[in-house]
Amino acid sequence: MHRFIWNRINIQKHSFISWLMVHDKLQTLDNMKWSYIPNHCCLCMMAEENRAHLFFVCKWSRELLRLSSDWLRLTSIPARHAHWIRWVLHAFGRKRRFKVVGALLTAVIYEIWKERNNRIFRNCAQTPNNVFSVMKKKLTHRFAYCYPDFRLAH
Ligand SMILES: [Zn+2]
Repeated sequence: MHRFIWNRINIQKHSFISWLMVHDKLQTLDNMKWSYIPNHCCLCMMAEENRAHLFFVCKWSRELLRLSSDWLRLTSIPARHAHWIRWVLHAFGRKRRFKVVGALLTAVIYEIWKERNNRIFRNCAQTPNNVFSVMKKKLTHRFAYCYPDFRLAH
């Protein structure tokens, strides 16, 4: 699990939020001891907010993951993060592609958490498409910096 989170090419804040997420230390509404905020998912308004819903079930999050996996032509990303490490290792070994996919997954986790916070604390909402296009630019830049000869599908 930690290997895809603490890759050298990952953007550090993405790794940090992902680490908190896999250890269930993010302050999702179900995790808060007290809260004035009613517990509903602010991304879809259709369920209670908890880690499993927010990152793996919510329609908004699944759409961001779908756009991201289409971009790198990934298929069959497991629905649970606990299975990601085995899947990434199995699919890509431990080489460059593994790191690229790790950087993508941690970016997705980060962006979901950021969008959730923007909606709760700043009252500003974006579509998965908007978030994806900005994220894609950042990652493309990062990959090009780390691997100058690396070509991604566009
Ligand atoms: Zn939701």
